[in-house]
Parts: sequence; structure tokens; C-alpha cells
Amino acid sequence: MPSLTTEQLKEFWQRLSDAKAQIEALLQQTAKDSKPVDLELPIGRLTRIDAIQMQGMAQMNRQQLDIRRQQVDAALASFDTGKYGLCRHCHQPISLARLEILPESPFCVDCQESFERER
Ligand SMILES: [Zn+2]
Repeated sequence: MPSLTTEQLKEFWQRLSDAKAQIEALLQQTAKDSKPVDLELPIGRLTRIDAIQMQGMAQMNRQQLDIRRQQVDAALASFDTGKYGLCRHCHQPISLARLEILPESPFCVDCQESFERER
């Protein structure tokens, strides 16, 4: 693993494990919030619309959380293969500054930027 010391790897692994636990807790919490809205409930019209909007937001967050969980899982798995900190596209080391901000980053800055330009 180029450019990362054992200490740094331990730290990132810890941060990713914590993030995973947090995401899973949030997903469990939002699972309760995103239950189908019961339209038979005797609630006012505005409240019902609010409830439906809340449900939509909870689902959008769940999608984002799910993507993040997949990235965190993939990053944790890359410790086993000795590839943590390497860009999954160009296989060059991801800069430490970037990992500090987003330990689950799958790509280096250059690759990420070129993906975003292509979109
Ligand atoms: Zn790259």
C-alpha cells in the first residue's frame, strides 16, 4: 500500500467502521420513517401531503445512504486485498488529503473530475 503508514491505515479503517455503523443505524431509523403513508388515517389534508413529502425525502436519503454504504463496504473490503487508498480506475494512490475528507473515496481526484466532466 503505497504512501500510507500502518498507523494511517488503522485510523482510516476505524473511521470507515464507524461510518458503516452510523449508516446502518440511519438506514434502520429511516426504514421506520419511510413506511407507506396510511391514507385512511384521520389526518388533515395538509398533514397528509406533508407526510407523503417526508416519505419521499426519507427514501431519497436512503438511496444516498445506500450508495455511501456500498462505498464504505468496498473500501473496507479493499483492506483485505491490500488495495485501500488506490484509485479503482487508474490504480494510482489517492492523495492523503482526499482520504482524510472522504475515506471511502473509490477514485483519485483526477479520475473523479474526469467522470464528472463526462456527465
Ligand atoms: Zn485515478
